[in-house]
Amino acid sequence: MPANEKIRFVLLDRDNTLNFDPGYINNPKDLKLKPGVTEALNLLKKFDFQFAIITNQSGISRKLITLKQLKAVNNRLLELLKKENITIKKIYFCPHTDEDNCECRKPKPGLIKQAQKELKFSLSRSYIIGDKLRDIKAAEPFNIDGILVYPSDAEKKLKEPKNLKYIATDLKEAAQFILQIEFEKDINLKIHSSYKEKLFQNTIQNLRKQKKKIVFTNGCFDILHSGHLQYLWQASKLGDALVVAANSDDSVKRLKGKSRPVNTLKDRLLSLSALPFTSVITSFSEDTPIEIIKKIKPDIHVKGGDYKKEDLPEYSVIKKYKGEVVILPFRKGYSTTDIIKKTK
Ligand SMILES: [Zn+2]
Repeated sequence: MPANEKIRFVLLDRDNTLNFDPGYINNPKDLKLKPGVTEALNLLKKFDFQFAIITNQSGISRKLITLKQLKAVNNRLLELLKKENITIKKIYFCPHTDEDNCECRKPKPGLIKQAQKELKFSLSRSYIIGDKLRDIKAAEPFNIDGILVYPSDAEKKLKEPKNLKYIATDLKEAAQFILQIEFEKDINLKIHSSYKEKLFQNTIQNLRKQKKKIVFTNGCFDILHSGHLQYLWQASKLGDALVVAANSDDSVKRLKGKSRPVNTLKDRLLSLSALPFTSVITSFSEDTPIEIIKKIKPDIHVKGGDYKKEDLPEYSVIKKYKGEVVILPFRKGYSTTDIIKKTK
C-alpha cells in the first residue's frame, strides 16, 4: 500500500482520550474536553500532523443514543476544537456492540482500514492514541505506532499489542513522545546499527558505484564535543562520503573503563547521524577496526590524535589494498574524559 510519507495522521480515540467520559453522552452540553488536549494537538499540528477520530459508539446499537444525538455531540467536539484552531479531518465511528459481530468495532481494524483508504496517510509516519488497548490493537495489522493514554491498572496488565510503543499519563506526554520518535525516524536514515548488516554493505557498494571517495573513521564519540565536530568536519573534507563507526557499548567499557560510555550506542549513533557532514553511521564491537576496514576498504582511513601511521594495528591492512591513512590532530583541550572530570 504505497502512501505518501508526507501525509501524517494522528488517529485519536474519542471518549476519555479527547473528552471526559461520563458514559454514552447524548447531550452536546455534556461534552467537555480533557485538560491539555488542545495544547497537545496544536503542538502536533506544528509538525504537520492531521487528525481523525476513530471511535466505538455502541450506544447506538444499545439504543441509548440516536444517530442524530451522536452527530450533535460530535459536532460539539469539532466546534470546541475548532475554537483552538484544530481541525479534525473526519470522525469514523462504529455503532455496533460485540454481539453484532461487525468488522469495525475496535479492536477490529475496519475503521482504520477505511480511514487509510480515504485519507491515504503514511502508515510508518502516523500514530494512534487511545485509552484502551483495543484502540491500539485496531492499528496493529497496519503496524501503526500506538500510544496508550490515561491507562487503567487493568489495561496495563493485559497482553500488549506489538504496536504499543508507549504508555503516557496524558495527551501532552503522548504528543511529546510522538515528536521523539519522529526525531529518531528522521535522523535514523543514515544509521546501520552494525557493519555486518546487508543494508550497510549495499550502502557502501552504492557509494562505490557512484565513484565517491570514501573516508572512514572510528571512535567512541561518547559525549560529542566541538573537538569531535571539528575532527569529523575535517575528515569529511578529505573525500565525498564520511563513514563513521562507533565502538559498541561493550568495547567502550573495555577501552575506557566500566563507568563508560556515558551515552548508549543508540544515542551516540543518533548524535553522529544528525551531523550534516557525516554520510553513513554504523558500529563495531571488536577492539580494532580491522574487520570493518576489510569490509569497506575506504579510500582514506582517518585517525585522530598523535599516532604514527605505522603503529596503527590496521595499517598493514590498508597498505595492502593501497588505501591512504591520514592522522588528524585533535583540537587541544577537548576530550570526553576532561568533560567528565570537570563535572565532578
Ligand atoms: Zn462496527
